[in-house]
Parts: sequence; structure tokens; C-alpha cells
Amino acid sequence: MKKVRVRYAPSPTGLLHIGNARTAMFNYLFARHHKGDFIIRIEDTDIARNVKGGEASQLENLKWLGLDWDESPDKGGLYGPYRQLERLDLYKKYANDLLERGLAYKEYKEGSDNYAVRFKVPKGQTYCFNDMVRGSLSFESKDIEDWIILKDNGIPTYNFAVVIDDHFMKITHVFRGEEHITNTPKQIMVYQAFGWEIPIFGHMTLIVNEDKKKLSKRDRSIVQFIGQYRDLGYLPQALFNFISLLGWSPSINEEILSQDQIIELFDSDRLTKAPSFFDVDKLTFINHTYIKKLSDEEFVEFIRPFLVNHGVKMKSEEWLSDLASLLHDRCEYGAQIVELYDEFFKADFDIEDEALNFIKEETTSLSTIKQFKALIRGINFEPQLIQDAIKQTGKDVGVKGKNLYMPCRIATTGSMHGPELPKMLSLLGKQTVIDRINYTISLLEA
Ligand code: GLU
Repeated sequence: MKKVRVRYAPSPTGLLHIGNARTAMFNYLFARHHKGDFIIRIEDTDIARNVKGGEASQLENLKWLGLDWDESPDKGGLYGPYRQLERLDLYKKYANDLLERGLAYKEYKEGSDNYAVRFKVPKGQTYCFNDMVRGSLSFESKDIEDWIILKDNGIPTYNFAVVIDDHFMKITHVFRGEEHITNTPKQIMVYQAFGWEIPIFGHMTLIVNEDKKKLSKRDRSIVQFIGQYRDLGYLPQALFNFISLLGWSPSINEEILSQDQIIELFDSDRLTKAPSFFDVDKLTFINHTYIKKLSDEEFVEFIRPFLVNHGVKMKSEEWLSDLASLLHDRCEYGAQIVELYDEFFKADFDIEDEALNFIKEETTSLSTIKQFKALIRGINFEPQLIQDAIKQTGKDVGVKGKNLYMPCRIATTGSMHGPELPKMLSLLGKQTVIDRINYTISLLEA
């Protein structure tokens, strides 16, 4: 097999959408799996739709996701330039060649010397190709009208430029969205007009929402741009893992896979034909899994900016690291740390119903809580000393197990469940804990 060369060819018309990221990733994975080249080409011929900074932000987000490339506008390469607007002479040259050979014709704009160039669709042809995802597809030339390859302003249309570029950039395989299936016969006729080898196409399936509808950029119920995930504190490795499963499935029964494993396993035979469901819960699960794998130190650095933005005053590095270790397991995405923090330190303390019932039903609760309060008054509020105070309370009141721990926990946190109590209380601070205990006592004595 010749050296694999694939490309991701975005139009710099906006931010990096999940669908584009998947196209980029599948091309990247295919290239890396086959030790080939991955190229980025900017298709900027739709001038009205180009947005300033569009190219840079796309590349930046791809880098963040963990992709790298061999040739691109920013890196250069043997087959550049890599922006279509810098290749206009080339398109003109090949449009002229078709004109000279009678395979295309001029179409003058009324009252002007400017003309567009239209491709003459051959009669009676069938355009067949073997799609890597969908198998054999075929189109009849009678269903395709003569189409413009070069507009009267000298700018090529997508279907023409893409062929010239893929040919001269020696592209061997093309993975792209299924909206391009119907463009493919037009592209094939251009390859044939020049006698060039046609790359192998693979049109990936739609990404759909819960209602089986194509993800629409306007649908606000699903976050769809890579930059937004980044801002929310999703980890790039998690998104990479999740996106790789949108239309591909590994041959092994495991879905949490590192980038290297995915590259190793990425096999174009396992691209799926069925639409891929954008499963938000699965993304959350994968992200949560990756967050749990962060070391304590990594997690501290991961959550720090979110807390800083939220205006949290860090009492000390030790305080932050205690807070981090307390909330690490529950944090599903970075920005959530703020909710967890607020929930933890919330001013309007209250007791959940089942918890309140528990302490009301247990006759020793009140004395346990009171004794615990009396003992913590005089101590330095550190986890070990708090732990000792709980134990001592048990001895003094003559309770143990649930009857000891639950009243202490419920009176100070309002819940029967939660992270390690002494650590948590020490973070809350003595005054808050005593205020909560007083409130609980007032409820029990009422
Ligand atoms: N610029 C096209 C797009 O963004 C590229 C399509 C292709 O890969 O051929 O959809």
C-alpha cells in the first residue's frame, strides 16, 4: 500500500464543532494507525462565511484535543500552500485546461467580460465508488447538471478545488461527513477528466441526539463546541476517547481507551453505518473516569482556576488540597467543583428528611450531639482531633457505630451520606460546625 495521506479540510467559518472534531480525529487516527501523514488544509473560498480567527481557533482546539499534524498552513510542508485562497492560480490553470479540451465552457455574466466556468457533465455515465463506511454507491450523470467550477470572480467552487488539492497533495483516503456523499460523483468526474487516481472515500454517519435527529448547532440542550467543553472542565483525553466512539467501535470489549490504544485499534472496517448517538451521559461517565484517574496534585491544579474564577478565597495550599481530596471522587467536570463547593459551604444549612427522622427516632441522638459539641469547643479543629472527639463522645454517652457516627454527621452536614467526616468538618471550620449543631439541637428540642 502507498503511504497513507489524509487531510482534514475545514472551512474557517466558525468554532470547532463536535462533528468537525470527529472528522479531524478519524482522519488523524487513520493516518497514525497506518504510519501515514495527516494534513490540515484550510478551505477558505467561501469568503463571506469566513470568520476572523476561525482558522487559529480550530487549530488550537485540535491541538488541545491531542492531535498533531505533519503539514498545514502554520507548519508548511512539501505540498503547500495549504490555504485555498493562496492556490487560485492553480485552479485557474486547470479550469483553463478543461476549457481548452472542451470539457468545460464559459458562461458570461450579462454586460461584463467576466465569466464563470461550467463543467460539462458527460452523458450516460454511472459514477460508482466503494465507500469505506457505506460500501458500494452509485450515481447517474443524468441526475447531475453542468456545474460551476470557477466563479466569475476567479474563486473555485468546493467540488473543483477539493479535487485539485487532494490530487496535488497526494491524498489517498478521505474521511468526511455524509453530507458530502452527493458531492462525490462531481468530484469523480473531475478526477476522470484529468485522468487522475481517485482517492478512497469514507463518509461518516450522522451524529444524532436522543430524538434521533441530527445534532443541530442551534440545539442548546447539548453542548456542541470543543471550546465549550474545554471551558467547562472536560479533559481532552476524555473527549478524544468519547469522540472516537462516535461512529467507530473497537474490536475489544473496553471503551475507556487511551489515545495510543485507539490509534493501535483504529480499523476502518469497524466504522459503523448506523447513526451515532451523542450520549451525554456516556460523555459524563468517561470524563468522570478520567478525572478520577488524576493524581491529587493534578486534580488541585485542574480545579484551581474554577475556584479562583468563582472568587473562592483559598485559606492555604493545604486547605485547597484537603478540599480537593474531599471532592475529587464526586467531580464529573471541572466547573462542577464550584457547585460542589457551594453545596459544601452553603450558608442556609438544613437537614434532609430521612436524616432528620433518623436522629429523631434514636433517643441517644440529642445527648450524643450535645456531647460532641462540648468536646470540640476546646480543640484545635484538625481532622485527627475531631476524630478523637467523636470517639470520646461515644465513650462518654455510651453509644457506638451508627448511633455515634450518624448523629455527628447529620447534625453537622444535614445528610446521612458524604465524604470522610473529620476532614470535612475541619474544612468547614469550627464556627460553622457549632452553628449547625445548635440549629440541629433546636430542631430536636422543639
Ligand atoms: N471544507 C469541506 C467541509 O468543511 C471539506 C469537505 C471534504 O473533506 O471534502 O465540509
